[in-house]
Amino acid sequence: MSDKKSTSTLAANLDKAAGYLAQFRGAPVAHFIAGERSAAKSGKTFDTLSPVDNTPLAKVAVGDAADIDAAAKAATAAFPAWRALPGPKRRTILHAIADAIEARAEEIALVESMDTGQPIRYMAKAALRGAENYRFFADRAPGAADGLSLPDTDHINYTLRQPIGPVGVITPWNTPFMLSTWKIAPALAAGCTVVHKPAEWSPLSATLLTEIMDGVIRKHGLPAGVVNVVHGVGETAGKALTEHPLIKAVGFVGDSKTGSLIMAQGAPTLKRVHFELGGKNPVIVFDDADLDRALDAALFMIYSLNGERCTSSSRALGQRSIYDAFTAKLTERVKKIKVGHPLDPATEIGPLIHATHVDKVLSFPASAKKEGAKIACGGGRAMDGTGNYVEPTLYLDAKQSMRIAQDEIFGPVLTVVPFDDEADAVKVANDVRYGLTGYIWTRDVGRAHRVARDLEAGMIWVNSENVRHLPTPFGGMKASGIGRDGGDYSFDFYMETKNVAVAYDTHNVPKIGG
Ligand code: NAD
Repeated sequence: MSDKKSTSTLAANLDKAAGYLAQFRGAPVAHFIAGERSAAKSGKTFDTLSPVDNTPLAKVAVGDAADIDAAAKAATAAFPAWRALPGPKRRTILHAIADAIEARAEEIALVESMDTGQPIRYMAKAALRGAENYRFFADRAPGAADGLSLPDTDHINYTLRQPIGPVGVITPWNTPFMLSTWKIAPALAAGCTVVHKPAEWSPLSATLLTEIMDGVIRKHGLPAGVVNVVHGVGETAGKALTEHPLIKAVGFVGDSKTGSLIMAQGAPTLKRVHFELGGKNPVIVFDDADLDRALDAALFMIYSLNGERCTSSSRALGQRSIYDAFTAKLTERVKKIKVGHPLDPATEIGPLIHATHVDKVLSFPASAKKEGAKIACGGGRAMDGTGNYVEPTLYLDAKQSMRIAQDEIFGPVLTVVPFDDEADAVKVANDVRYGLTGYIWTRDVGRAHRVARDLEAGMIWVNSENVRHLPTPFGGMKASGIGRDGGDYSFDFYMETKNVAVAYDTHNVPKIGG
């Protein structure tokens, strides 16, 4: 794409984004509870900032326990009507939500891009993937209650699956729209009502999503309160949601440390929890791999989405025999990555979500140097320094014990660690507290299967990257999560399973007491 063309498209995108963002100016962005926009009961608001220049994008309601209580009661009041809805009707409604998302996909993508700093080239797809989540779970809604049935000669056992009740969904700031739909669509398909607490750094698309869902649901004659959103910070609004006795389960996507907190907060009410947490995912490149494709995958999975992606290939493990060739090509490519305004279609890396997050990402170069790694490129701020732009960064010759190989940096930063052989690759790959995903590049089929078996991660890609079929399970091991999402795995979390045994007659009951 020529500079001229991309500049004019940037201008057009800026113009359109300004139009869509106007709805968040003026009155503060409210919670959405029982079908109404509701100001925070405390009257408090916070500013959400543009990653492009750190100017305020919107004022947003600060939720606390009182707002969560109102939302939990609204979700509880709506639950009987929503759970009683026949599956096919729920399917119709979820498809209508997908239609409504698709109709507003441009608005969602532009708002999301400005709110998060994620390049528009990826956000357009994320909005449509959100619609796809509703379509997928819509089609499964009629069968959600299905369970095992065992007929015998004198009795039949059958299994009922029933929605657990009103649930809490707590989401992070990275790709917030898509991740919210990934958690909320199956909850609705299962028959649960929802209170959503989005991340405070990127709250805008959650407001759009809830109002879209509520509009469709109520058009079908259902009561308000099936979907609710309460904004605010995790320590108050999020905490209150995890502690609320009316909320039966909490689906959480975020940091591993927050997962531990939520587990403790939910303990008094024996909350069912599901966690999708952080990762430090290895892309293992063996010397027999298709090096160019492996390189493409390693680069795409860490540098797209600003590296603010749980499944990112943030550690590249290169076999020593091809290490020099691999790292030379990596360095050449990383130097060419285009950092720019998130609404410029040519931009490959936009500004990071928040100035605090930039500080975290830029705390690593010093420790990398101190520990003896080589900074092949990057490690500083990019653009003119007013926004949250950082340079794509590449650390070479790292050791697995280093902080850059152990911690989730969650930015456009790749750490490369050399390894000797297959056993060493598995050892290095597993030597982290996380276990979300792993990528294996080899032409040796047996080795691919052996390493896939031995990696401690919930999702493995062999000679591929980021392929996701929605019926298949997704989730992490170790500090990367508890539980799986996708297809029936999502229903296992949002539903109770009940075993019913019915005798055809009662003649087999043993007699007691005469
Ligand atoms: P975070 O844990 O700081 O925040 C996530 C959400 O939790 C926010 O809405 C926040 O307000 C809320 N929260 C914070 N403290 C809370 C508390 N005490 N009680 C209840 N809620 C609380 O995470 P983040 O920085 O927003 O997100 C980035 C993290 O999310 C990264 O670690 C990333 O890997 C992870 N993530 C994982 C997946 C996955 O599928 N495994 C997907 C996306 C992001």
